Amino acid sequence: KNENLYLTLKRGFPADPAALALETADACRYSFSDVDRASARFAGVITSLGLRAGDRVVVQVEKSPEALFLYLACLRAGVVFVPLNTAYQRAELAYFLGDAQPSLVVCRPASEAAMRALASEAGVAHVLTLGEAGDGSLAEAARNQPEDFATVPRAADDLAAILYTSGTTGRSKGAMLTHDNLASNARTLVAYWGFRRSDVLLHALPIFHAHGLFVACHCALLNGSPMLWLPRFDVDTAMKLLPRATVFMGVPTFYTRLLEQPEFDRGTIPAMRLFISGSAPLLAETHREFEERTGHAILERYGMTETVMLTSNPLDAVRRAGTVGFPLPGVNLRIADDAGRTLSTGEIGHVQVRGPNVFPGYWRMPGKTREEFTHDGFFRTGDLGKIDGQGYVVLVGRSKDLIITGGYNVYPKEIESFIDDIAGVKESAVIGLPHRDFGEAVAAVIVRESGAALHEADVIGTLKGELANFKVPKRVFFLDELPRNAMGKVQKNLLRERFSDLAA
Ligand code: ATP
Ligand code: MG
Repeated sequence: KNENLYLTLKRGFPADPAALALETADACRYSFSDVDRASARFAGVITSLGLRAGDRVVVQVEKSPEALFLYLACLRAGVVFVPLNTAYQRAELAYFLGDAQPSLVVCRPASEAAMRALASEAGVAHVLTLGEAGDGSLAEAARNQPEDFATVPRAADDLAAILYTSGTTGRSKGAMLTHDNLASNARTLVAYWGFRRSDVLLHALPIFHAHGLFVACHCALLNGSPMLWLPRFDVDTAMKLLPRATVFMGVPTFYTRLLEQPEFDRGTIPAMRLFISGSAPLLAETHREFEERTGHAILERYGMTETVMLTSNPLDAVRRAGTVGFPLPGVNLRIADDAGRTLSTGEIGHVQVRGPNVFPGYWRMPGKTREEFTHDGFFRTGDLGKIDGQGYVVLVGRSKDLIITGGYNVYPKEIESFIDDIAGVKESAVIGLPHRDFGEAVAAVIVRESGAALHEADVIGTLKGELANFKVPKRVFFLDELPRNAMGKVQKNLLRERFSDLAA
C-alpha cells in the first residue's frame, strides 16, 4: 500500500477539481486541480535531475503558492523536504547544507550566486531558484514537465521531511518526520478541531516551520478547504481578509497585534468559528482581552517540531487560559520526575510523550536521539509542566530554563507573570545566574513600556509583597528588547551569557 502523505491529503480534496484551494492577497486563485498539476510538474523536475527517494531537497524561498507546491512535489517524488527559515544567513546555511547533504537546493533568485558558492563547498549537485512571484529556474524547468506524475510509493515510516528545530535552547537539530507522523497528526487535528468543508483558513504563518507547514496546510488540504494565503502576517492585510475566514491560526504576537487595532472587533470576523494559537505561550491576559473584544476564546495548543501537535484545548468545552489543553487522541503524555517516575496530578515535572506522531529521531545524531528517548519509548520534550485536576496540561517553562536557587526550584513563568502585571512593564524574562551562595540566583530582564520610569528597586519592592523571598529576583536588568531567534522566541541562553557575572 502506498502510504505517501500526498495521497492521504489528496483523498481529502473536493470532488470538484475546480474548487478553490488557494487565494493570494492580490486575488490570484488556484484550484485543487492546479495544486495537483503544479506539484506534478515540480515533481517531474526533481526526478528528471536524477534525485531518488530519500534524497534531501533543501528549500529556502519566500512563501508563495509555488513554495507550497514544491513541498507537495517533494512528497510526491519521495524525496525528503528540508525547509529553512528565510532569515538564515551564510554561516547558518553552510551548517545546514553540510548537515542535510542535499542533492538539490532551491533558493531565492537574488541569493543564487551566494547559494551556489555554499552548495559547491558542501558538494550539492543542483541549485534551482524560485521567486516570490513563482518565477525562477525551477518554475522554468517545470514548464516542460507533464501535468501528471505517479506519486512515488512510500512506506508509513519513510521520511517525508527534516525540519530543523527553532534553535531556542542551542543549535538547531534536524527532526526527521515520517509520512505517517504527519498523516496521523493531520487526521487527528481535522477531527479534533471539527473541520468542515465550508471552512476557509486564513494562512499567515511562515511555511518553513511545523506550525504553518504541517498544522495549517495539512488541515486545510486534508479537509479540502481553501486557504487565504498571505506571504507574511501583516495586520492590515489580515484585517481585510479576516471577514472571509472561518479558521485562523497564529502565534501569540499575531493576536496581540490584532488587539492593538482599535477597529478589530466582532464586526471584523462575522464568519469566524475558531482562533488557534501556539508555538509560544499565550498570556492569559491576551486570552481574556481577546474574548472580551470578540467573544471568541482562543484555542491554545502545544506541540513541537519533533512531535507535531501534542495537546489542545477542546473545541466544545472550556478553553482554559494559561493551559494547553488535553493530550490529543492517540498521544500518550506523562509527567515524570528526574528519576523517571511518573508523577501525579498537580505535580510539576518533565513532559514525556509517545504516539504515532512522535518522530523517529534526530537526523545524523544517534547519540542525541538515544538520550532523548526513555527506555520505554517516550520522547523527552524538554518542557516542564503538570496536569491539573481537570486533566488540562499546564506548561511552566523549559527544563533548561528551570532555576534552582538555594535548593528551591523556581519556574520562570510564574515570576514573569507577576512582573508583567507591574505597571510600566512591557515584557520580561526571568533567568538563573550563577551565584556563589545559592548556586543560582533569580534575575529578571525587563523591557519597559515606552516612557515608563521603572527601576530595579521598584520591581523588587513590589514582588517582595507577593512572592516568597527565594523567588524574588536578586537583580533586575533593563533592555530595550529581548533577544529573539528567527521564530520570535526569547533566547534565554543569550541573556544568561550576557548577565552571567552580575549576580554574585
Ligand atoms: P530548540 O529545540 O532548537 O531549542 P524550540 O524548542 O523552540 O527550539 P520548536 O520545535 O519550534 O523549537 O518549538 C517547540 C517548543 O515551543 C516546545 O518545546 C515548547 O517549549 C514551545 N511551545 C509550543 N507551543 C507552546 C505553547 N502553546 N505554550 C508554551 N510553549 C509552547
Ligand atoms: Mg525544542
